[in-house]
Amino acid sequence: MGLDKTLVVVEANGSRVLPASLELLTQARTLAAAVEAVTWGDAAELAAEVGEYGASRIFHVGDVDGGLPGPATAASIAAIVESGASPDAILVPQTYDGRDVAARLSVRLDKPVITNVIGMEGEGDGLRSVHGVFGGTKVVKAAFTGGKPWIFVVKAKSFAAEPSGGAPAEVVTAAHPDLGLTAAAKIIDRHVEESTGPKLDEADVVVAGGRGLGSKEAYGMVEELARLLGGAPGASRAIVDADWVPYSYQVGQTGKTVKPTVYVALGISGATQHLVGMKGAKNIIAVNKDKEAPIFSVADLGIVGDVHQVLPKLIEALKARR
Ligand SMILES: Cc1cc2nc3c(=O)[nH]c(=O)nc-3n(C[C@H](O)[C@H](O)[C@H](O)COP(=O)(O)OP(=O)(O)OC[C@H]3O[C@@H](n4cnc5c(N)ncnc54)[C@H](O)[C@@H]3O)c2cc1C
Repeated sequence: MGLDKTLVVVEANGSRVLPASLELLTQARTLAAAVEAVTWGDAAELAAEVGEYGASRIFHVGDVDGGLPGPATAASIAAIVESGASPDAILVPQTYDGRDVAARLSVRLDKPVITNVIGMEGEGDGLRSVHGVFGGTKVVKAAFTGGKPWIFVVKAKSFAAEPSGGAPAEVVTAAHPDLGLTAAAKIIDRHVEESTGPKLDEADVVVAGGRGLGSKEAYGMVEELARLLGGAPGASRAIVDADWVPYSYQVGQTGKTVKPTVYVALGISGATQHLVGMKGAKNIIAVNKDKEAPIFSVADLGIVGDVHQVLPKLIEALKARR
């Protein structure tokens, strides 16, 4: 454990910390002696959960007043750094708001940012970040050569979230200077994607369909199987581009990264850009009529067959068990 202190940017949905931030808190514990958190959410509500995942303190940036959280959060972190109590590393979840915080912080501190991190390794007093390149087919490592704090923006599902059983974090107000026009942008509307069942990137079972289904209508079988297994439906980019399903269903390099216990790929070829988003699943089941399809190179169970024959039988068998 080489670092003294790591600061984790904590994003929350109401009173629950988002999994991407819990993953970072867990990883931060392995990198540094002390872990602290900063949030624009309700710090008092989040203190117990953040403490349970290892942070001793949670800084609250104050009310962002219907605006973007980025300006206040970046200014608060910069103030912490400039106060002399700087962390060695700042871990930011690679979400929309996280990226906004990191970019603004980079400008305020005049420091570079390393993004697209999928792993981290302590190395003496240093830290190396791990990145997948060329569609995840190669792994490269990176390290800052300049002074601390080092800012890392980390992709969701890069680490498993595990509680440490810590006490609730101490809540501290993080003052920041007047934000001026940087805080002028206001959020005027929010659109919540309608969905039933578990969220794709949190589901224990993901059933994903690809172009091999042949039609938008056939995707209904994917949704039905997902429902029967208590999982979430997903998709390859080919059928998102074809407008069969919304983008929020897409798994892969330019979609979501998932790590379920079971991933079922139906009529998906297994292009590297798809594999990079799901190959971390514990068990992969693939159905494809081409026995040479690359999806079989990562599958634990492969069925060479037509989805239009296999899927109805699978659905029927599951229904018969109920
Ligand atoms: C920069 C970049 C980013 C990308 N990002 C992503 C990403 O995030 N996610 C993603 O998925 N893709 C991504 N892609 C696209 C990717 O390269 C593939 O084009 C895409 O994944 C293919 O989708 P597919 O497997 O559904 O379709 P196809 O490649 O057309 O494969 C269809 C498969 O279905 C099988 N099949 C056909 N009929 C049947 C049947 N009746 N029964 C069973 N099997 C059948 C075929 O044998 C074939 O293997 C990206 C590409 C680029 C260049």
